[in-house]
Amino acid sequence: MFFVSLVIVLVVGDLASTFLYHVPQHLWFKLHLRTHHDRSRSYWDHAVISKDPEVLLDGLLGAIPYIAIAVPLAFFGPWAAAGAALGLLLGQLHVWWRHTTDLGWVSPPWLVRICRVFAIVLPEDHDGHHRNPDVEFGDIFRFYDAPARAFVTYVRTVQRRRKNALRRLQRIRAVRSLRTTQRA
Ligand SMILES: [Zn+2]
Ligand SMILES: [Zn+2]
Repeated sequence: MFFVSLVIVLVVGDLASTFLYHVPQHLWFKLHLRTHHDRSRSYWDHAVISKDPEVLLDGLLGAIPYIAIAVPLAFFGPWAAAGAALGLLLGQLHVWWRHTTDLGWVSPPWLVRICRVFAIVLPEDHDGHHRNPDVEFGDIFRFYDAPARAFVTYVRTVQRRRKNALRRLQRIRAVRSLRTTQRA
């Protein structure tokens, strides 16, 4: 039960956080882009030590899905509760660790091999998300990156098509009203 709830908090928490918070922020909102992807500041500073209320809010909203999954697990007994708590702790440690490239962290080859086996996001991978916000989704696990990117591309295509269709419609209406005024 300990390991089950530990794994659920990390795997399902990351799934929920990625698709209910991170991806929607990239598509429709500004808070995460203004704080987490603020290129004018070191991301170690704004992801880890900043006390700016907007930065803290972005961190909290991203953490809520993990917490929402950990809390009910705690009712399955003390081992499940301990596993869920450790899951939250490891999740927090991973936040700090994945932002250490800014401080010069380079993952040793043995660690890269282990993380690749478990599809765990390395600081170098997450650095890719800061360089290009359209890639490397998934806080802890890399297998959420491909579906997240596919979803982002799909929504953007639909949005672009709708915008183009509206523009065409406006042009048609403009031409029609021009013709009616000419006739009149
Ligand atoms: Zn980051
Ligand atoms: Zn992001």
